[in-house]
Amino acid sequence: MRIKYIATTVVCALLGVAATQAYIRITLGGKTLNWSSNTISYNIHTAGSDDISDNSHIPAIEHAFQSWSDVSGSNINLVRGADTASGSTGGSGHTITFDETNSSGFFPSGSGIVAITPITYMLADGRITDADILFNGNQFTFSTDQTPGTFDVQDILAHEVGHFIGLDHSPVVSGTMWPYVSQTQWLHRSLSQDDEAGAIAVATGSGQTKVTGTIRKPGSTSGLAGAIVSASLTDGRFIASTTTNSNGNFTLRGMPAGDYYIHIDPLEGGMSSANLTSNSSISTAFAPTFYGGFDNPTLFSLTPGAQLGCGVLTANADIAMRESASSTTLLEQGTSSLVTIYGSSIPVGATMVAKTNELTISNITSNSSYVRATVTANSAAMVASYNLYIKAPNGDFETASGVVEVIQPAPNLAAVSQFKVSTAGGETITLSGTNFQDGAFVLFGGYESDEVTFIDSNTLSVVTPAVPLSLVDVAVHNPDGQQTVLSEGVAFTGQAVFTQSWPTKGQSTGGTHVFINGDNFNGVSKFYIDGQQVAFTFKSAKIVHLQMPAHAPGAVELTIENPASPDLVVSDFFEFVSTSDPSISDFTPRKGPRGGGTIVDLFGGGFEGVTEVWFGVDPVTGLGGKMASATSIVSAAELKATTANNSASGNYALKIITASGQGAVMSGFTFEGSNLGSGGEGFDIPGGCSVDFEREQQADFRVLMPQYLLTIVGWLILRNRLAKRRKKVGVKLD
Ligand SMILES: [Zn+2]
Repeated sequence: MRIKYIATTVVCALLGVAATQAYIRITLGGKTLNWSSNTISYNIHTAGSDDISDNSHIPAIEHAFQSWSDVSGSNINLVRGADTASGSTGGSGHTITFDETNSSGFFPSGSGIVAITPITYMLADGRITDADILFNGNQFTFSTDQTPGTFDVQDILAHEVGHFIGLDHSPVVSGTMWPYVSQTQWLHRSLSQDDEAGAIAVATGSGQTKVTGTIRKPGSTSGLAGAIVSASLTDGRFIASTTTNSNGNFTLRGMPAGDYYIHIDPLEGGMSSANLTSNSSISTAFAPTFYGGFDNPTLFSLTPGAQLGCGVLTANADIAMRESASSTTLLEQGTSSLVTIYGSSIPVGATMVAKTNELTISNITSNSSYVRATVTANSAAMVASYNLYIKAPNGDFETASGVVEVIQPAPNLAAVSQFKVSTAGGETITLSGTNFQDGAFVLFGGYESDEVTFIDSNTLSVVTPAVPLSLVDVAVHNPDGQQTVLSEGVAFTGQAVFTQSWPTKGQSTGGTHVFINGDNFNGVSKFYIDGQQVAFTFKSAKIVHLQMPAHAPGAVELTIENPASPDLVVSDFFEFVSTSDPSISDFTPRKGPRGGGTIVDLFGGGFEGVTEVWFGVDPVTGLGGKMASATSIVSAAELKATTANNSASGNYALKIITASGQGAVMSGFTFEGSNLGSGGEGFDIPGGCSVDFEREQQADFRVLMPQYLLTIVGWLILRNRLAKRRKKVGVKLD
């Protein structure tokens, strides 16, 4: 068995790319690549991306695969298998990984490859035995939140998954399988009808349409190989395209019923045969040709599930004029934009034609290298991709496939009905804004809601997922790939958890400093002693310090109130006593060896009742440390204590405890010396800090830079692309 690897590349176009139509299956050595089963699993590498800290790449990956599985009429079924701890793509699993160090070798310096889909297949029958997808994390930055200068994970992956299932690049500019992506538009995410037709061709469901025909060379009865065959509905919507085989025959599958125009184009515009993995022959020695002619093309009526033969079309003789459109103009309904189709040898008097009533073209100017016009999407224009044509006075024409895409307006998330929600999830909240679409999904940080109900274009009802204590961005992703982010839109909080506190007794005159260890504390928590709100110092989600108020002697309860959560009541939390607390005003020396044996002189008050002195106490938690090996009370204002050996060197607090359970803490004693080789394992801090709400806020803050601040990444890719003069290396074989 011989195997070959196919490497596919995605390179940046500075202008946008959207979703549309023109599927081509990967064909090598006359064998069309194919999977033995329509159900294919993929395995996400647990290391994730160095650029994404909130795991939001996970839903991005899932949605990129899901968009292909969702294609109606296709039996392709891509399922998430077990995650893998290995980034290796050598095994039989289908690994999705971010290669941060070029450990794969696929991303040498200057490669310009953003992501790659190596496929292993059998030469005998094209059967795919393995496919993996690698992101070039070594040279590019990835995100899921529209940060300019980064590549969008879902956008890139939607394209790569097309290769994964066996599709080649598409010559339609607005298609997901167009070989170039943008760092400022993310419309690759949504599949076009052509991409969907590709998914149908890979795994044809029952009852799908089939359109066939034969293309002949100009003035010849022999077949024309590698011509692009395109089908547009007579209203102008571009639906599907494919290439002719070596005999000039073509088959289009999965087209919806309707009335079609069908025409052919040479693969020599914005995309050329160099962008194709397929190595079948590509002929370009002919001119674009419609069945029936450009002005009165033949109308082919396709009924549901039908098979339709278009018959023979002989291509027109080649012409000098070329177009080289390479970007998509996105138009919301009722809006206009100046559109330029570049090319060469464009004759004087050439015009721009749309061949659809959905678009209006005005103010046409041209010279030998471009045709430029104002293109207006009519107010009720159907959401779809449309071709534009350069037409010469003698009737010659060139096709710019799918260069205009009419889109729905972008969503905007303005508000959520509830800012603070439970970490446990399960709360129903309302998202308000504009231009939401049915089928949108909603992310809270990196966590996706399981249940989104589309109420109307201004309202979504969403059940919150379970999310750790944090402040998160809320993102609504419309099914057409457009998204909106409400920065720091929701805070996940939960009922406070109480583990322990110290000291548990203190003076009735108030002022006792109490350490509370637990969980789910945050800056907006409230603490009540017998109903009286008290001041606190927030240290972390797991630690707060309370400054006790004055209170009559006796036991009291503590109530902790977290937003949007049930209160937590701790009975017998603390006992106020009439005896004054001991206090520490100073001590000396301030440091000693970690091995212990230092006699420390403490000064303060109330020492007559002190029974324990502790060193090595954590100053934040009030926990840990060891009791002094010897203690002697000199007076009510002075005592001496000898340090025991400490588990690790560093800065610590010391604390004193009286027989009645009152106490005081003071920080500033340093244990010195090496930590090596003595069994010390560092701090032993029960209930130590791990989640800091304030730091979480900062981590989730995102700076959305203006679009003109394209990073050097874009520049490098642009340079790469210009250097190749539109040859655009689409695929590398070795
Ligand atoms: Zn590609």
